[in-house]
Amino acid sequence: MRLVLVGPPGAGKGTQAHFIASHLSIPRISTGDIFRYNVTNHTELGAQAKEFMDRGDLVPDEVTVAMVRDRLGEDDAKEGFLLDGFPRNVPQAETLKKMLAETDIKLTVVLELEVDEDEVVRRLSGRRTCRRCERVWHVLYDPPSREGICDDCGGDLFQRDDDMEEVIRHRIEVYKSQTEPLVAFYAEEGILAVIDAAGPVEEITSRALGALEPYTR
Ligand code: ADP
Ligand code: AMP
Repeated sequence: MRLVLVGPPGAGKGTQAHFIASHLSIPRISTGDIFRYNVTNHTELGAQAKEFMDRGDLVPDEVTVAMVRDRLGEDDAKEGFLLDGFPRNVPQAETLKKMLAETDIKLTVVLELEVDEDEVVRRLSGRRTCRRCERVWHVLYDPPSREGICDDCGGDLFQRDDDMEEVIRHRIEVYKSQTEPLVAFYAEEGILAVIDAAGPVEEITSRALGALEPYTR
């Protein structure tokens, strides 16, 4: 399966991506995680991305698309993948379509996670991410059993620099103006599936897997 997750920041894409990717045995490719890894490790790519990420803006398309092209070219992505955080605007979606067409492939399905803005702000304000395995937790809604430590791998949890109130608000605006048009784009392509992403994490996982099931046949 070649799957894209779409939804506002805080919708739960990263959280669900871990479960869905492991259930379907496909690699989870999160452009945000790749950028953060590069920022932390002071690479050239990290230096190009950092100022945009700190402001909550999109990293320029040339930089992002080149990175995704490299990642999709790796062996583990040949039979399928889950993209979390890419595409983020219509030009990126068009480029992805062309990129896949070069090897005669298409996206299987785009899953939209719908959740309202107040909930998104509550989720992002308490988000904690594992430095080692990138698993996402929430201080109230999905806390690890030991504060600050990932249950899955024992790694340290950190709070993202862009999960501050003003940056959160800006990222929501960027989502509305640049990313939300993808919903119409993929509906037009006939590959959009939508789920209500409000409710407990496990319930959303089963809703997501249910919505994807017809595409696994
Ligand atoms: P995204 O990748 O869409 O930005 P995340 O998966 O990082 O969103 O989730 C944002 C925050 O919301 C995290 O702290 C996560 O633990 C929490 N979260 C995810 N799904 C739910 C849910 N169904 N209910 C409550 N909190 C959730
Ligand atoms: P995320 O982890 O998906 O919330 O992404 C964090 C930040 O990384 C975003 O606010 C952007 O600055 C950058 N980013 C991630 N994916 C993309 C993308 N597809 N295009 C441009 N910027 C991106």
